[in-house]
Amino acid sequence: MNILVINAGSSSLKYQLINVDNKKVLAKGLCERIGIEGSQLKHTPGDKEPIVIVSPMKTHNEAIKLVIDALIDKEHGVISDMGEIGAVGHRVVHGGEHFKQSVIIDDEVIKAIEDCKDLAPLHNPPNLIGINACKQAMPNIPHVAVFDTAFHQTMPKEAFMYALPYEYYEKYKIRKYGFHGTSHKYVAERAAQMLGKPLDELKLITLHLGNGSSISAINKGKSIDTTMGFTPLAGVPMGTRSGDIDPAIVLFLMEKENLSIEDINIVLNKKSGVFGVSGVSSDFRDLEAASKDGNDRAALAENIFIYNVRKYIGTYSAILGGVDAIIFTAGIGENNAYMRKSLVNDLQFLGIKIDLEKNEIRGKEIDISADDATVRTLVIPTNEELMIAKETLELVSKA
Ligand code: ADP
Repeated sequence: MNILVINAGSSSLKYQLINVDNKKVLAKGLCERIGIEGSQLKHTPGDKEPIVIVSPMKTHNEAIKLVIDALIDKEHGVISDMGEIGAVGHRVVHGGEHFKQSVIIDDEVIKAIEDCKDLAPLHNPPNLIGINACKQAMPNIPHVAVFDTAFHQTMPKEAFMYALPYEYYEKYKIRKYGFHGTSHKYVAERAAQMLGKPLDELKLITLHLGNGSSISAINKGKSIDTTMGFTPLAGVPMGTRSGDIDPAIVLFLMEKENLSIEDINIVLNKKSGVFGVSGVSSDFRDLEAASKDGNDRAALAENIFIYNVRKYIGTYSAILGGVDAIIFTAGIGENNAYMRKSLVNDLQFLGIKIDLEKNEIRGKEIDISADDATVRTLVIPTNEELMIAKETLELVSKA
């Protein structure tokens, strides 16, 4: 079966058409600037060169029509008609407490996703627009919602509750939700396969380190804690996000710098993290280059990141009561050998030790542990689209 995976943003729509039988990506692409002048679709059929279609897309409905046209086009299409799409899997950022797993989308599900919109005002509304547009264009096939938050719904209450007045949890559902769930789940499942052990016998720490970073403690396949919180701002410092800070700093800065809620939101989300500290870049490749050139603040930004990620490896080893494997994934986790080396340096006391030669190998699933390590260190390229397609298939096959 071919499954179309959709990730809709406010002015963009990413897609992949995946043949779930052989896990092959038949085509992928991105509609940009939807509703804005100069909208275009970049469509990549299979292993061929991408083509760019410049065409006005006033709405997501128009975008999805263009996508379908591109998929069935005689020249650069990959299927002969829409009937070859068996189901659609939609990435939805926030499922609140309502969604503990993926679901087939019906009117009730749409209402529940709408109800979560206060929790993810920038993400859930465009996700819903994408769902509605796709349902209109493909009304006769099942549509499935896969939530970034769902995998972390297994966290125990002491892990997800903040020590705030309880009424705010009841009134506004303020609690830790965690994000990147699809990625953490995917690499955990792959790790079990690589280790040749059932997932429910493993204690894992998954490190999704990219522009946005989060780390999860996974016991027997279930997330028991994760670093992101009520929003994706929490946890370790990121490209431009602060990660955890003393909340009193927010009040202090708002007063001293006369910042509005919107201003402080921009400071914390867009001007902080390694970018804010270094003043150089949010990209770790630029930081590494600048720090090699003697830029102290770039080196400091890297070191703050390293320090905080290491802290969570320790914390999660403690709450798991030991660990069988740690897994690196996402842009930095998959590609940055220097970071991986720095993050696990001197962790032999936990049983974590890597083979420095294997650590240099890139672009594939690999066990980079040293021979005498008792905890495995794995690098697993994440594949959220494939995970969404798999979950969609599972639900559709059961229905
Ligand atoms: P996002 O969270 O936006 O999906 P990514 O997972 O692509 O971001 O992570 C972006 C980070 O990954 C950047 O800091 C970048 O330095 C790093 N990165 C991505 N690709 C590479 C690469 N090929 N080599 C080295 N670093 C990379």
